[in-house]
Amino acid sequence: MDAAITYLDHAASTPMRAEAIEAMTPFYAGVYANPSGSHRFARRARRAIDEARDVVADVAGCRPNEVVFTGCGTESDNMAISGAVERLGGVAVCSAAEHHAVLHVVESVHGAVVGVDAYGRLDLDELERTLAAIVARGEQVSVVSVMAVNNEVGTVTDIAAAARVVRRMAPDALVHTDAVQAPCWLDLREITPHVDLLSLSAHKFGGPKGVGVLVERGGPRVAPLIIGGGQERERRSGTHNVAGIVALAEALRLTDIERDAERERLAELRDRLVAGIVDELDDVIETIPADAAVEKVAGSAHLCVGGVESEALLYLLDEADVCASAASACASGAMEPSHVLAAMGVDREVALGALRLSLGHTTTQADVDRGVDVIVAAVQRLRGHGRR
Ligand code: PLP
Repeated sequence: MDAAITYLDHAASTPMRAEAIEAMTPFYAGVYANPSGSHRFARRARRAIDEARDVVADVAGCRPNEVVFTGCGTESDNMAISGAVERLGGVAVCSAAEHHAVLHVVESVHGAVVGVDAYGRLDLDELERTLAAIVARGEQVSVVSVMAVNNEVGTVTDIAAAARVVRRMAPDALVHTDAVQAPCWLDLREITPHVDLLSLSAHKFGGPKGVGVLVERGGPRVAPLIIGGGQERERRSGTHNVAGIVALAEALRLTDIERDAERERLAELRDRLVAGIVDELDDVIETIPADAAVEKVAGSAHLCVGGVESEALLYLLDEADVCASAASACASGAMEPSHVLAAMGVDREVALGALRLSLGHTTTQADVDRGVDVIVAAVQRLRGHGRR
């Protein structure tokens, strides 16, 4: 990466791990055979996928044949929701703080959206009422989707508690979790047993873009999204991205090994980052305060900066080679405040000053200190010119 860049946008995408790049390289110019072929060259590629599947299963806490490789996290989320509705009929349900890869699919099938609390956690009472109402009008619930870690504010959801409500109120429904933001912070083995479906995306943990996983526990649970050659045991057709799958597995394996140490290291850096900004500037709130009784991931700092608009702030940060974002990457650039902050009840005016800073495996103290200096200077400059 360009040494001048201060990268504080790991929730949008992480730099690839050198080991993952090394692991994938032989599958471009060397072992380029189609893994579905019958010759021994093809079998080498297929073996690499099988080995990757074993690694993913170990880290995700499932069986290898429950791992389906997909083209990205969005595809995994889409397959979980659309595939459940296609196979089971009935109503899809999700939380209002979901990534659009879930929320827009649930909305497109006229599903139900359940509110969240001021910290972005699913409102379990409202979930219970929503499921009861669907069942009472004689309909079935096909899938309930609740994200493990929120991509904007970093809140961790108690998936076990959400799953308990679903099992009690709608026992035939599938439970899906979008765990795309989870692997760097949470042990997936503690989440997977509570769900039927779990989505991952390699580029959020040091792997490449364009490869993901859908864990389907207990065999095929949902209809495939992509049909054709019947790869992935008919669950996801399309020639495998062998290099991407190999790199995903290597990145996930290392993420799992380093998780505890990284969590500790990055929590300290995150606190230093937030304190550095809040101590220097008035009218900046940590959206989920450090002392709130809510679990949030170590790499996530979300601030609402009074008197500035995110767009203008991000522009100045960009000019100074500091990478950050306002809402999710897909929404940045839009003037509408984030749907997550709106669902949390954050005042629109406050939400317009949202700043998401996210740390990860390459973040150093020098990044954090430079980030503080640049952000403080940019806010002061904007406040000197703009509204206060
Ligand atoms: N779900 C969450 C929570 C995310 O943060 C993202 C990416 O921003 C996605 C899904 C989509 O993943 P992908 O970029 O692999 O399509």
